[in-house]
Amino acid sequence: MVIKMSEEKAKIAFYWAASCGGCEIAILDLDAAVLDVAAKADIVFWPVAVDTKYHDVESMPDNSIDVTFFNGGIRNSEAVHVAKLLRKKSKFLVAFGSCANFGGVPALANFKSKNSIFERVYKTTPSTVNPQGIYPQTSYKTKEGEVTIPSFFDGVYPLDEVVPVDYYLPGCPPTKKWILAGVTAFLTGELPPKGSVIAEEFALCKECPREKPEKHTVKEFKRTWEIMNIDFEKCLLEQGIICLGPATRGGCEARCIKTNYPCRGCYGPAPNVEDMGAKMISVLGSIIDEKDEAKMAQIIDETPDFAGTIYEFTAGKSVFLRRKQ
Ligand code: SF4
Ligand code: SF4
Repeated sequence: MVIKMSEEKAKIAFYWAASCGGCEIAILDLDAAVLDVAAKADIVFWPVAVDTKYHDVESMPDNSIDVTFFNGGIRNSEAVHVAKLLRKKSKFLVAFGSCANFGGVPALANFKSKNSIFERVYKTTPSTVNPQGIYPQTSYKTKEGEVTIPSFFDGVYPLDEVVPVDYYLPGCPPTKKWILAGVTAFLTGELPPKGSVIAEEFALCKECPREKPEKHTVKEFKRTWEIMNIDFEKCLLEQGIICLGPATRGGCEARCIKTNYPCRGCYGPAPNVEDMGAKMISVLGSIIDEKDEAKMAQIIDETPDFAGTIYEFTAGKSVFLRRKQ
């Protein structure tokens, strides 16, 4: 799809919701290419780096921002407000990074309810003194006026659960190659079909350089630190380390695996995979060298933080962990 962008400099916005903000810092990984982008685009909103306010965006005409890169998941009512505002003001909206795409690491909190999170944070942490058990109130009246804060939701949601998203650029953070591909596509107007994921169309194992086994011999799963000599050449799964490569979309060129660390799934589900955790349960079930169902279940039960491992970046999209706002 070729879309003619205006002859003037393009207008780009960035926003940071529930995330660590690493995706915005990754933009600086473009190195000298940042200067090419700066020559062709004006950044009109970027709270982490530019002193712009929400009312600056509110005063912009609708569709006047060419593209917004939105990173972070939706954790509270402020994120919904800004997502809707930027959607209205932008021709294109990109879910930028794992948290905006699938909830990311913050969505691991979806294993807990809002009440249990508040209980822990505001009452039972060892450093907390709160004898009256007071929780933050979303509205408080003072003599100077009413003070409000955003309301905290019962879960973390991907961006496309609150507004329509045009493109998906996953990764924690997305790599330089794909950020540049995405930005270049917008600056040249040569865009892939709407709804595209700006990454590879195959699973990570395909671009992983390690030897894949003919026959599986896995008897148990361990953490990396529990294995003295991890073989740099052989598939990590085959060495008993849970690697999410078979369920993960390719694109990062196996950057973790090249450092002898397993894939944790930050590029999200591979094409045709709906739920990464479910896919990994199926993969692990097929490689464990054990026929007895009870022993198989025991191997999984004894694997530390199994659910957190198979959903490290995608709990916000899990069909098993749906939560209400
Ligand atoms: S499971 Fe991991 S280590 Fe094994 S081939 Fe796939 S990506 Fe590579
Ligand atoms: S190897 Fe996996 S976790 Fe690491 S960058 Fe690639 S997709 Fe993300």
